[in-house]
Amino acid sequence: MRQSQLFANTLREAPAEAEVTSHRLLLRAGFIRQLAAGIYIFMPLGLRVLQNVERILRDELERAGANELLMPALQPTELWKESGRYDVYGPELIRLTDRHHREFALGPTHEEVVTMLMKNEINSYRQLPVTVYQIQTKFRDERRPRSGLLRGREFLMKDAYSFDTTWDGLNRSYRAMYDAYHRIFERCGLTFRAVEADAGAIGGEGGTHEFMALADIGEDTIAVCTHCGYSANIEKAISREECFETEGNTIPKYDKIHTPGVHTIKELTEYLKIKPVNVMKTLIYLADGNPVAVIVRGDHEVNEIKVKNALGAETLTLSETETTESVTGAKTGFAGPIGLSIPLLVDKVVIRMKWGITGANESEYHIKNVVPGRDFSVEHVGDFRNVKEDEACSRCEEGKLRLVKGIEVGHVFKLGTKYSEALKARYLDANGKEQPIIMGCYGIGVSRIVSAIVEQYHDERGIVWPPAIAPYRVHLIPVSIRDDMQRKIAEDLYDALRQIGIDVLLDDRDERAGVKFNDSDLIGLPIRIVVGKDAIHGKVEYVERSENNKQLLSVEEVVMRINTGDKFR
Ligand code: ATP
Ligand code: MG
Repeated sequence: MRQSQLFANTLREAPAEAEVTSHRLLLRAGFIRQLAAGIYIFMPLGLRVLQNVERILRDELERAGANELLMPALQPTELWKESGRYDVYGPELIRLTDRHHREFALGPTHEEVVTMLMKNEINSYRQLPVTVYQIQTKFRDERRPRSGLLRGREFLMKDAYSFDTTWDGLNRSYRAMYDAYHRIFERCGLTFRAVEADAGAIGGEGGTHEFMALADIGEDTIAVCTHCGYSANIEKAISREECFETEGNTIPKYDKIHTPGVHTIKELTEYLKIKPVNVMKTLIYLADGNPVAVIVRGDHEVNEIKVKNALGAETLTLSETETTESVTGAKTGFAGPIGLSIPLLVDKVVIRMKWGITGANESEYHIKNVVPGRDFSVEHVGDFRNVKEDEACSRCEEGKLRLVKGIEVGHVFKLGTKYSEALKARYLDANGKEQPIIMGCYGIGVSRIVSAIVEQYHDERGIVWPPAIAPYRVHLIPVSIRDDMQRKIAEDLYDALRQIGIDVLLDDRDERAGVKFNDSDLIGLPIRIVVGKDAIHGKVEYVERSENNKQLLSVEEVVMRINTGDKFR
């Protein structure tokens, strides 16, 4: 491609709203443009990157035996009502009505559609197992579209679905995808972890793993053991929790203490000269509209996903001030378990505390010497909190948990029969008996991967594309296009490289060298060849974007180097 013909503008500055590096660089280097919040245009360079990711996906998925198909974005909402997700999915589902007043949704995912398809197509066990996938645009009206391609409202996803007759079969299909995902993310050059995850709104009975590209700006927190391979999303992570136990055996009866103006754990610990580990923190939630109290140690955070799962609730929200006041009879900040007549969910660390300070359910008062079990019910004990850095790993003897940030680039689920039961997708087994198909589903954020790669591959000058993903492999830059010798050598090289199948971007623009080099740094192609003052001696400069290893080589040497350079294949 000649840069004089390339539709691409680089920008000196990124728009102010672009906060994360990948968003800024993709805009500045001219790979994407925003149309509306969370909705992007892929410019020619960006599209080539996206297509490179797609190529890797197709290659590995075909290798894993999956069939590509393409399903529509428009989905009748009846399907969503049948599966029971119409209400659960909430406002993220974009709904619209056609001229006949029939309601449709813009597909945020395709479990319903693909299950309906299989219901019609699969009759006999002989047709199973089968796995299908598509690379297709998804729509989700995200509450906070942000970070460019990382959280869009319209984005490209690869979604795959497996259909089996047995759980063993599902395990095999799942494993095949899990392995394919490892190869895909490796080939994309990502540093990633497969982590145990929570099943979330999509549901299902089996296991689920998320694939996290490690990055400081990631929205997800993952707990990783320093010793064994254990890694889990914080939503799910457990530790061999260490528990703080206080001295003394008999705890005196609890006692109310006046704590004027003390609302937070910090204020409480300063006022009473105690530590957060001495506090039993009580939070009031509404689970499907009904108040519940969750009690965790003062230095711990409630894990709402764990609470929601324990209650089997569809929604869980922290209660508003008025609800808290009507439930506890006190201002916010003074809730405690004693005297509450709503379900108490007690974190298992709390029941091992010998005593604690709690709110008194009376404004400006707390209670000391509160003993779990003695002073309040410990009927509902469970794991309701987030693990913390340095806690002991629950899987091995030696390891400690580290918390790191990640971007979820992929997700694999064992769905079981959730959708096939709801939508009656059945097959006839060898005895002629109807059975529900056992399903798995597997997603990859194709456009999100592009941003995740840039988060991991950049420097202060711009993007540093991994070769497999780069829009072109070589940036060929004659310093002055008006110099006949330079232009001729550049044109010859351009032809020679293209002849051996190398994608080259030839900067044939009549621009100053500084402009060309800045653009080239920003765009970040793996190899740069500069045809400059040494052209008269038949030499050009060869440099790899990631190495800064400038070398003067003859034209033949350059072609040879690129042709044989394995890492640029
Ligand atoms: P998240 O927790 O980030 O919202 P999710 O759990 O809703 O993700 P899935 O329903 O599992 O995501 O979708 C499959 C994949 O699609 C995700 O692993 C992610 O890579 C990608 N993805 C999900 N939402 C978005 C989005 N709004 N923009 C870009 N990619 C997305
Ligand atoms: Mg989501």
